[in-house]
Amino acid sequence: LTMLLDMAADGFGDRIVVGSRDLGISAARLQELSVAGAAAIREAGADSVVYLAVNGPAFPVAMFSAARAGVPLVPVNYRLGREQLDALLANHPRALGIADPFQTEALERAGLKVFSPQEWVQNLAASAITELDEDDAVDTDGDSDAPAVVIYTSGTTSAPKGVLLRHENLTSYVFGSVEFASAEETDAALVSVPPYHIAAVANVITNLYAGRRTMVLEQFTPQQWLDTVRREEISNALVVPTMLARIVESDADKSVPSLRGLAYGGAPMPARVIENALQMWPETGFVNAYGLTETSSTIAVLGPDDHRAALESDDESVRARLGSVGQIVPGIELEIRDLEDRVVEPGVTGRICVRGDQVSAEYAGIGRMVDERGFFDTRDKGYVDEEGFLFVGGRVDDTIIRGAENIAPAEIEDVILRHPAVLDVAVVGVPDDEWGQRIEAAVVLRPGVPVDAEELRAFVRDALRSSKTPERIVYWDELPRTETGKLVRRHVVDRLTRQEQAAEV
Ligand code: ATP
Repeated sequence: LTMLLDMAADGFGDRIVVGSRDLGISAARLQELSVAGAAAIREAGADSVVYLAVNGPAFPVAMFSAARAGVPLVPVNYRLGREQLDALLANHPRALGIADPFQTEALERAGLKVFSPQEWVQNLAASAITELDEDDAVDTDGDSDAPAVVIYTSGTTSAPKGVLLRHENLTSYVFGSVEFASAEETDAALVSVPPYHIAAVANVITNLYAGRRTMVLEQFTPQQWLDTVRREEISNALVVPTMLARIVESDADKSVPSLRGLAYGGAPMPARVIENALQMWPETGFVNAYGLTETSSTIAVLGPDDHRAALESDDESVRARLGSVGQIVPGIELEIRDLEDRVVEPGVTGRICVRGDQVSAEYAGIGRMVDERGFFDTRDKGYVDEEGFLFVGGRVDDTIIRGAENIAPAEIEDVILRHPAVLDVAVVGVPDDEWGQRIEAAVVLRPGVPVDAEELRAFVRDALRSSKTPERIVYWDELPRTETGKLVRRHVVDRLTRQEQAAEV
């Protein structure tokens, strides 16, 4: 990553690349701060940098300081509970910590030296160190095999795993992202995902490479987001589907004349939300980006032209592409495989397996999880159509097995979401003595639009068939989702099971 920063400093110099238009940090300044940061990390004898704070300019400064010091950055979810946090921090006993005040205690408990984000940047800004000692300097071309970041997955399907991304994974991702490759001096990108999400890391480095300024949003609300886009004349933004849903639903002023590109991803996008967004902002180019932490973010992209074509076409198969994640990016090879690991034909659903330089598939303390040919199994289900468009159908582990039938919750959720009274939905398999699992749904209704559970069941039965109709539909005020909008299905199953047990008592 130091190579990217040094290239940006050479190429863009005084151009502001991080922060607001008026108070931001230039490429050359970021380079200086990273040198001082690397020296501070070395002096502390740290073998990694734990970043436990909301997003802000200190995040890129920490990322490039760690890179230059040759140690990984470990951005950690500041919403974790005490137990989870302590368990995770125990993996990094020799880290230097950067934490917001409300989390300082957790790092101190773990015995780490801690700076606040402001302190970190101010100390470096005041530092007189402008060069690293020969012995200390990391060879910026030779560090490609070193760990750059460790990102913990959110643990929606299993316990959180520390995914280890090496410099070469991230740089090959950046060099492959051709469509981001060049930017105007006035371009600015707004990142709303938290720093512990791969998309934040990937975005900061691609923008820097392109010479585009990155603004980060500390905490997302539709109003904050819209205000920032207008105030900072944001040209490109990145959101997760739940954020776009909240923006579409909000009554705020939604004019965003500067917004040329809006990328979304990280979780499945409901059809209704993207259709509304396309109609709301006809001048904006939408991009659906599909990827995983293990693949250094994006491995498939549905671009602006495909979005427009899908919205406007009379052809059913072109319209259906709005539900696709598009085409695989250059440098990634894709295989869709069946249960026996055979590659299937277009149109047939199987497991999405990928190979390429940006795929790390490596876990701290576990090692690399690829097959003998170097392919990584994403554990996502999907198929490719005749034109090479990839459709993702949820996670293999989320499949409901009712009797002998495999049922994808995503298919049923899509149908329920089409009902005008429904705001959000989770369909899960609940343990059942007779069927192994039975289908249940938790639904969040739009305020003031009542609908009977029986009517909703009939709605699904009409669209699908009775074996896919939820045996029970309950109404909740909200669903358990992570900050990045991922549904935590195990919490839905737990709550439904508890409710049933309570009802039996
Ligand atoms: P865990 O693996 O522990 O559940 P996680 O869900 O946080 O953690 P990530 O790497 O952040 O792991 O998420 C990757 C997953 O998100 C993909 O496997 C896929 O299921 C889903 N996903 C990402 N982008 C998209 C997209 N554009 N459309 C649909 N699903 C997506």
